[in-house]
Amino acid sequence: MATELHEAIFMAKQERHKNLFLNYRNLNNFPVELLKDEGLQFLERLYMKRNSLRTLPDNLAQKLPNLIELYLHSNNIMIIPEAIGNLARLQSLDLSNNALQFLCPEIGRLRSLRHLRLSNNHLKCLPPEIGDLQDLQTLDVSMNQLIGLPERLHRCASLQTLTADHNRLAHVPRQLCWLHRLNQLSMAANRLTFLPLDLGRSRELQFVFVDNNVDLRGLPSYLYNKVIGCSGCGVSAPGSGGDVGGSAGDALSEALVGLPAEVKVVGSEADSVVPLEEIAMRALHRLDHRRPKDVNLPPPIALPQSLLHLLHFPLGHCHRCSQTMFTIIYPKLFPLRDTALAGVHRRTTVSFVAYCCSSRCLRTFDLQG
Ligand SMILES: [Zn+2]
Repeated sequence: MATELHEAIFMAKQERHKNLFLNYRNLNNFPVELLKDEGLQFLERLYMKRNSLRTLPDNLAQKLPNLIELYLHSNNIMIIPEAIGNLARLQSLDLSNNALQFLCPEIGRLRSLRHLRLSNNHLKCLPPEIGDLQDLQTLDVSMNQLIGLPERLHRCASLQTLTADHNRLAHVPRQLCWLHRLNQLSMAANRLTFLPLDLGRSRELQFVFVDNNVDLRGLPSYLYNKVIGCSGCGVSAPGSGGDVGGSAGDALSEALVGLPAEVKVVGSEADSVVPLEEIAMRALHRLDHRRPKDVNLPPPIALPQSLLHLLHFPLGHCHRCSQTMFTIIYPKLFPLRDTALAGVHRRTTVSFVAYCCSSRCLRTFDLQG
């Protein structure tokens, strides 16, 4: 076995192979032959799935400087060295089905990375530096123990597919609604109670899978006409969720368990006046976003961090007129049983929810319109 391995690496070195297959080799350690002398300067793809590796060498980038794809699926890797960040040409990294508990921030230095697969590990969080991966198209972090996703993920402007099934996520960061290339979002079997109000506002987002989030009862109405998976949602006992407070009717409060903390008021058709706090926020937002060039305004408003954050990533936009919303929403329910999707999701109690900026928009909003 060892001789066979030795020969495979020797041949690859002699004949300047670009691909090297070392799958199913029973390797406990990274083969030293790969790292001897000048290494394998021509190697672009290294396949090492189903071995028993526990870590990676520090000098990987030095010895295999032209690696484009690295497949380490199904090993016992617990730690990847900080030096992983030196693999400047790496486009695809598969670390699925390993024993990772922690991902070093240096992963953010892999600026050529397009596909990152980390499913089935023991990750509890992801480093915010993942947001530095500007070329990242695919991120799979399913089957971990994540309780949140980094907000900086919205800087991954090329992200097309985000898979985070089977984790412990309680919410989807609303910043993700800014990922204009995102086509598929999968967050099945988590602990979601609500989705960002703007989710689906981007035309690019076509597939949303949130099946088996038992406390999730409402889907933003933007998702109407998209491909959604929501079986097994809304099946937990009603009334066990959070309090939406205030004036919402019974059916509404049941459907809207859990809303972003910033929602201060849930408006109804009867309220004709938007609260002062909301008017102030909308005015601030306009000031912050449409700052006239020729007017000499004071430097960026010295607001508390949390308020500034809310201004930059508001709750959402009115599903009727696109007005920005901050502290109040006027929701309108469209039970799934009234829509074309009802047949597909026979056993859910989930509704589409339109979120409006005022009672006027609430009255005139229609799902088909
Ligand atoms: Zn509106």
